Amino acid sequence: MNSPVDREREVLEALRSIEDPDLGRDIVSLGFVRDLRGLEDGHLRFTLRLTTPACPLREDFRRQCEARLRRLEWVRSVAVEITSERPAQVAPRADGLAQVGTILAVGSCKGGVGKSTVAVNLAGALLRRGGQVGLFDADIFGPSLPTMLRPEDPAIRVADGALLPLVVEGLRVMSFGFAAPGGDPAIMRGPMVSQVLDQLLTQTRWGELDYLVLDLPPGTGDIHLTLMQRANITGALIVTTPQELSRVDVVKGIRMFQRLKVPVIGVVENMSRYRCPDCGAVHHPFGSGAREQLVREFGLPVSAELPIWAELSRWGDRGRPVVFAEPAGEVAAAFLELADRVVRELSRVRLGAARPPVVMWEPSRGVIVRRADGRTFVISPRRLREACGCAECAQRRAPPPAAVEPAGIEPMGNYAVSVGWSDGHGPSIYPYEALEALGEAG
Ligand code: ADP
Repeated sequence: MNSPVDREREVLEALRSIEDPDLGRDIVSLGFVRDLRGLEDGHLRFTLRLTTPACPLREDFRRQCEARLRRLEWVRSVAVEITSERPAQVAPRADGLAQVGTILAVGSCKGGVGKSTVAVNLAGALLRRGGQVGLFDADIFGPSLPTMLRPEDPAIRVADGALLPLVVEGLRVMSFGFAAPGGDPAIMRGPMVSQVLDQLLTQTRWGELDYLVLDLPPGTGDIHLTLMQRANITGALIVTTPQELSRVDVVKGIRMFQRLKVPVIGVVENMSRYRCPDCGAVHHPFGSGAREQLVREFGLPVSAELPIWAELSRWGDRGRPVVFAEPAGEVAAAFLELADRVVRELSRVRLGAARPPVVMWEPSRGVIVRRADGRTFVISPRRLREACGCAECAQRRAPPPAAVEPAGIEPMGNYAVSVGWSDGHGPSIYPYEALEALGEAG
């Protein structure tokens, strides 16, 4: 019989072939494998400690571990316990948020696009996936949470100078509408609004949370800035409808979040289509194709399209999110799928796997793309310009001037870069992935 030390090495070797596809590393070097026991009798037991309880890959990991280890001839059984460890915060957060792992902001540029509906149902879906989840309504002028969630006892309690969040359907929630029902925010001036929001957010005793979802007020104003600086947000999701304006909205949103170094991880196109309940025909009242275009242009890793669903507004008005009211329905399934994508990308952002490359213009070499892992690509300015996908270039495929050069390069969110040109064209926007494909290893 080989020694327990040899066996341990064999086990780790076998597990090293299992990669976390989001983080791009194997589960052993990521430190997920803990408490390995049973090396003597062949009844292997160990813990797989993931970074989030909502990990959509957990069962996949379990299956892969079992399959790999059963191949070892001395192994008689395999039991994998899956747990999760709330990640340490990158930068400490204010008081009440100290034990919050990941903060997701849900924003939109306009009102009425379904942002709150998405925020509430997404929070519910994250909870159903096994996380501890909070939801903060950051809209003072039109708080929607009190309509969308009706706690049995809506009175906010104070303990040791902190506000206790209300618990509805297992979600911990806070809204100005609960804290000051009937309060008239119209008398508040800008700085006061920011202060009240800040207090509500940071003096609520959220406790240990895997995810806190912030339902931001529409727009790109000062309120967002204050809130985001204090909260140290992990990532943002933009909700939009497929009208003409949506691209402008998304660009504005990405720019605003960019200033605060918050990556916009994706876009939800809400009310994108409508299926007639009588004849089953699908209509696109606001046109189609906008989301695909946005995702291509900005390289956004998360995107979802939600149709007009009568259930969403019906349950919203009755104060029960549809993810709880109809847990096995198609609407809940769509939100669970969205939650899985959000969880995966937020893990990547948090663990630094989604760190954007640096893009520079070096006149003697070309446009240099240096990835976080040190790999470098070089692109000739002409080739880059020819790949510009703006509407003008798409229509009129005239060759660019021979000596054209980049005149300004700026990140455009976490997944794309914006390039201005010496002849005044642009800015052109390129997803980092596309840049790598255009370049040559340098
Ligand atoms: P916002 O937060 O952007 O102002 P809300 O989430 O309050 O928007 O949504 C506005 C209205 O639209 C609500 O009555 C909501 O129930 C309804 N709604 C949102 N999304 C959908 C959808 N996909 N299908 C049907 N109704 C929707």
